[in-house]
Amino acid sequence: MALEPKEVAVVLSGMNEMTPLEENVKTAKNSVSGMLTKTETDVYESVIKIINDSYKIPCTGCNYCMPCPQKVNIPACFAAYNVSYTVGRLSGFQQYMTSTGATDPRKNYAASNCKECGKCEEKCPQRIPVIKSLKNVVKRMEPFWYKTVLQIFIKLRG
Ligand code: SF4
Ligand code: SF4
Repeated sequence: MALEPKEVAVVLSGMNEMTPLEENVKTAKNSVSGMLTKTETDVYESVIKIINDSYKIPCTGCNYCMPCPQKVNIPACFAAYNVSYTVGRLSGFQQYMTSTGATDPRKNYAASNCKECGKCEEKCPQRIPVIKSLKNVVKRMEPFWYKTVLQIFIKLRG
């Protein structure tokens, strides 16, 4: 999509405090369509590409898809998956284990719990194919050795 599409009449920006609201009003006051130079447009487009390439799943963490009847922590699964690409696989694993309660047998919010009911997909404003995306999460974050290693870890810890 072009950076300054003429069809766009309104921009929605998430704001939960006065400071971002004031900054956004200031920016809007000083902005007109077509004000960006070619160099600025090129820079913005490069940044957009880098972000899009890094963020494999465009989840904003809004939580609208929650709760999942199978207790899958959907946004947390996606966040850890994205971290495994942007920061590194080890960091992604650490985040995944923590946020899905992997080392606590009483909790289990992992992506592999998904039973494909589809309830979450109807609620996602980003139109993320949650079921398919969770399968990708399982492939990357829960490899064949994952559960065995976890069980050993839990036993050793006592
Ligand atoms: S499709 Fe999977 S993740 Fe989504 S609500 Fe159903 S069980 Fe939960
Ligand atoms: S509703 Fe969509 S964007 Fe929001 S947390 Fe769920 S998957 Fe992510």
